[in-house]
Amino acid sequence: MNRLQSFISANCATYDNDGKCLLETGANGDRTCVYFRDHGGRCSYAENCVIPGDPKIEVLYWAERGVTVSGDFCDSCQQPFERKSNRQKYCKKCGEFAEKENRRKRDIEYKERKRRFKD
Ligand SMILES: [Zn+2]
Repeated sequence: MNRLQSFISANCATYDNDGKCLLETGANGDRTCVYFRDHGGRCSYAENCVIPGDPKIEVLYWAERGVTVSGDFCDSCQQPFERKSNRQKYCKKCGEFAEKENRRKRDIEYKERKRRFKD
C-alpha cells in the first residue's frame, strides 16, 4: 500500500475494505477504489472531502498529478494554509515572522531619517 492508499483506507468514509469503495459502481460490479486500481484515477469525493484533511498528502497528491493547486500556499514555506484575507501571503508562522521583519525595517528607516534630519 502506498502512502495515499493507506491514507484513503484510514480516512475515507466511503472506503469499504480490501481496496473497495462503498460508492463505486464500476463495470462488472467492480467496486475497487480508484486509488487501488492499477491504472489509477480520480475520485471527486476523496479530492474534496478526504485528501484536504492532510495538507502533506494533498500537496503530494496534486504534485503527482501535475496539477498546480490554486489554493492558498504560503509564499515563504510553500505549505498550504487557511487564508483569512486576500492580502495574506504567508501562513501564520511565516506571517508573524514577516510582520516582525517589516517592523524592524520600518524602525531602522525611521531612525535613519531622524538621524539625517538632525545633521
Ligand atoms: Zn509559511
